[in-house]
Amino acid sequence: MDKKRAIVLGAGFGGSAAAARLSRLLPADKWEVVLVDRNNYLLFYPLLPEVAAGTLEPRHVVVPARSFLPKGRFVYAEVTGLDLERSRVHLSTEDEPAWSMRYDHLVLALGSVTRLPPVPGLREHGFELKTIADAASLRDHGISLLERASMAKDPELRRELLRVVVVGANFTGVELAGEYQDFLRDACRSYPELDPDDVDVVVVEARSRILPALPEKLADYARAHLERRGLRFATGRTVARVDRRGAELSDGTWLPSRTVAWCAGIAPNPLLAGCQDLPKNEQGYVETRPDLRVKGFDNVWAIGDSAFVPQPDGHGYPATAQVATRQGEHAARNIALAVRGAPLRPFAFRSRGALAALGCRTAVAEVFGLRIAGFPAWFLYRTVYLLKVPTLGRKLSIVTDWTVDLFAKQMPVQLGLHRRASETNGASRRDEARL
Ligand SMILES: Cc1cc2nc3c(=O)[nH]c(=O)nc-3n(C[C@H](O)[C@H](O)[C@H](O)COP(=O)(O)OP(=O)(O)OC[C@H]3O[C@@H](n4cnc5c(N)ncnc54)[C@H](O)[C@@H]3O)c2cc1C
Repeated sequence: MDKKRAIVLGAGFGGSAAAARLSRLLPADKWEVVLVDRNNYLLFYPLLPEVAAGTLEPRHVVVPARSFLPKGRFVYAEVTGLDLERSRVHLSTEDEPAWSMRYDHLVLALGSVTRLPPVPGLREHGFELKTIADAASLRDHGISLLERASMAKDPELRRELLRVVVVGANFTGVELAGEYQDFLRDACRSYPELDPDDVDVVVVEARSRILPALPEKLADYARAHLERRGLRFATGRTVARVDRRGAELSDGTWLPSRTVAWCAGIAPNPLLAGCQDLPKNEQGYVETRPDLRVKGFDNVWAIGDSAFVPQPDGHGYPATAQVATRQGEHAARNIALAVRGAPLRPFAFRSRGALAALGCRTAVAEVFGLRIAGFPAWFLYRTVYLLKVPTLGRKLSIVTDWTVDLFAKQMPVQLGLHRRASETNGASRRDEARL
C-alpha cells in the first residue's frame, strides 16, 4: 500500500523544525516525511554578520538538512510551483528539470528575500547579507578595500575606500555595522600604512531610533556605545541613490564609499507571492488561521517569514528565527492531531528575549524581561547561540573559531571565491586610475 506523504518546503528554521518533529510524530510505516530545499543545509542566519566579519568560518554556520531527518527523505531541488487543486508540488533539479510530487499535507516554509526597493543603482552596486556567499563576499570585499587603501596615495581616497554605509538599523544592520567596523579596524593592524581611525561606518535608518524591536533604553545604550567607538548614525533619512562611488541620502548628503550594504527589510518569497491560489495579505505574505492552516485549506500550512499568522490582537508575528522554529514544531503537532482527527490548537508565542551583538565583545540583550548590556550581554549572546546551533560538530567548530578570535588578530586573507569582477586586481587598478 502506498504511504501517505507530508512535504515540507524549505529547510530553514521553520521547515527543519517541522520536518524533524513530523518524522517523530507520524508513524513511519504509514507516512513518508519529505523535506525539500534548493540548498542541502540550514543556514544559521543570526551568525552571518560574524562570517562577514571573519570571526566564523562560512562552513561553521551551516548544518546539513539531512541531519534533521533520520527517518524522512531530503529532496535537493528547486520548488518551481504549486498545484493546490491536485495536491502536487512542482520541482526542478539539474538532471530532471520538471517533475512533481503528490502530498497529503504540505508545509510552506520558504522564508523571505531581502526587500530591495527601486532605489537607482542599488541592485547593481549594493551588497546584501542573506546567503553564505553574500557574507563571504563582504569579507573578501573588505580585505580588497584594505589592500587598495594601503596603496592609495590620496588620503581622501583612502577614507572613501574605508567608509562603509549600512542601510537599516534593525538587528542585521546594527550587528553587521558593529562587527564589520571591529573587523576592519582590527585588520588595519596588518597594514602599517593604514590608521584604524580612517575606518568610517555610517548606519542609515529611516526611523528616528535604532533597534526598534528592543526597549528604547537598551537601543539607546547600543547607539551610545557604537558612537563612542566611532560609528555614525544617519537616522530619519533613507538612501535615494547608489553608484560605484557612494550613496546619496534623502536629504542630499553624499557619502563617498565603495560599500553600501542593504539590510533594510524583507519581502515575501517570490514563488509564494506569485501563486494565485494562495490567500495573501497586502504585503504578499500567505495568510493562515491561528492554527497555522492556510486560509481555505485543511492540508496546507504556512510558517515562518513567508506566513502571516494572526496574533489574538490581529497583528502578525515578527519574522524571527525563534518564531519560525516554534511555528514549525507547532505545525507538525497540529498535522499529527489532524491525522488522528483530534481538534487543532492555535499557535501561541511568548518571546524569550532578544539579543544583538555589537562587536568588540559587547552586546545588548533582553531576556525574560531582564535587560543586560556590555560584556555580560555579549557572553550571554554567545552562550545562547552556541546552545541553539544544531549538532555537536557545529558547536565545537564555532567554539574553536571564537576561541581563536579571542587570542589571535584578524588575518586579512581573501578566499577569492566570491569576488566581483570589479574587485579583481586589474579592474581595481583601472578603477583607481579613473578616480
Ligand atoms: C543576516 C540575518 C540575521 C538574522 N538574525 C536574526 C537573529 O539574530 N535572530 C532572529 O530571531 N532572527 C534573525 N534573522 C531572521 C531569521 O533568520 C528568519 O526570520 C528565519 O530564518 C525565518 O525562517 P524560515 O524558516 O521562515 O525561512 P528560512 O530560514 O529563510 O528558510 C527558507 C528556506 O527555503 C529555501 N527556499 C526558498 N525558496 C526556495 C525554492 N524556490 N526552492 C527550494 N528551496 C527554497 C531556502 O533555501 C531556505 O533554506 C536574521 C536574518 C538574516 C538574513
